[in-house]
Amino acid sequence: MADIFAKQVSPVIRVITGAGPRPLYQAVEARDGEASLDGVRVVMAACNDYLGLAGDPRVAAAASQAIARYGASCSGSRLIGGTLPLHEELEARLATFLGCEAALVTTTGFQANLALTPLFGRGDIVFSDMSNHASLVDAIRAGWADRRPYRHSDMEHLEHKLAAADPDAAKAIVTDGLFSVEGDLCRLPELAELARRFEARLVVDGAHDIGLLGAGGRGVAEHFSLPNAVDLYTGTFSKCFGSVGGVIAGPAAVIQFLRYTARSAIFSASLPPASVAAAIAALDIIVSEPERRTRVFELSRRVHCGLRTLGFDIGGSFSPIVPVHIGGNDLCGRMWQEVLQEGVFTSMFGAPAVPEGQALIRLSLQATHTDEHITHILDAFAAAGRRLGLIPAAAPLASPRPPADTDEVVAASAR
Ligand code: PMP
Repeated sequence: MADIFAKQVSPVIRVITGAGPRPLYQAVEARDGEASLDGVRVVMAACNDYLGLAGDPRVAAAASQAIARYGASCSGSRLIGGTLPLHEELEARLATFLGCEAALVTTTGFQANLALTPLFGRGDIVFSDMSNHASLVDAIRAGWADRRPYRHSDMEHLEHKLAAADPDAAKAIVTDGLFSVEGDLCRLPELAELARRFEARLVVDGAHDIGLLGAGGRGVAEHFSLPNAVDLYTGTFSKCFGSVGGVIAGPAAVIQFLRYTARSAIFSASLPPASVAAAIAALDIIVSEPERRTRVFELSRRVHCGLRTLGFDIGGSFSPIVPVHIGGNDLCGRMWQEVLQEGVFTSMFGAPAVPEGQALIRLSLQATHTDEHITHILDAFAAAGRRLGLIPAAAPLASPRPPADTDEVVAASAR
């Protein structure tokens, strides 16, 4: 008789999770751009704390004070007993920050995206970028709407699909703002124009760009100076906010509808007080310390130029998320190990998470990385890449001047 437990992870995972340090589920103690791995100090380049706020004393103090006052958990969902005035304060602050009428705070960013499901009803059509985060994919799958995926950032493909759709159906275009693996931006101006022309709502997952992009950290819409382009945002506190938690922000009537229909918000315990307080403290810093954004983009430009000069393919990244394309899973696993041996902890994405033969190592940079950390990262990739024959043995030493500002790179990356 078949056993429902007789399932195994893919052979790739079994190889990667063998003995010794590994890219998946490896315990590391990380803080401020460094980590300790089995007692050895390494540069931490696998953490999405882009602004370096997770270890900020003000954020940590806010979390401790909230625990002292409210305890460790609300032990109830937002709907029933699990809403503190602190949750309402954070919602009001985020709505104002994002220029929206209202916001709903959820326990994770994943749950914020899942909370979109009630919007995707029978007869509706959802157009979704094929590189969208898994939680957006799941939110759409869980709904009744007709799903129309379009090739990553391919606006002609999207337009074709929109034009072929029933003009009377209610429609949404759903996209990540800053894509989490490739580190490239959605094409907001074109998306907004298509949404307007085909009367679709534009939903943007700002998990990686809220806090990071735009002069005030308000994300892709501010970056492109299109404050009214996005109809509904989702976001997370696990990247720029140095905490954990999620948010949906948009028109008051939509947020009100989701408060009472979104299963991921209704049937799950609310965000713990410490995480709410940490997110509020982080929001203050996001607003008052724009230099953190400047710093992480300076470091990113150095890494982009350095890696490209060495001969690595980093795709269209213009951000602190830097994919280094390697190829096969095995080769990528070896490169990951070699880079670690050089003292840098990175993330690895192999098939089936990415298409076969397109495995990559992802670097995530933080404002709290020092210039020395960046030199260390570039030296590690140079040494490891040369050992494996991935880059020329004598790559040029002097890196070209980084572009003067990110807009040049954005233009280049908006292929
Ligand atoms: N959206 C995107 C684009 C993400 O990258 C992530 C997390 N990696 C999420 C949503 C989920 O966020 P959280 O970690 O808060 O669940």
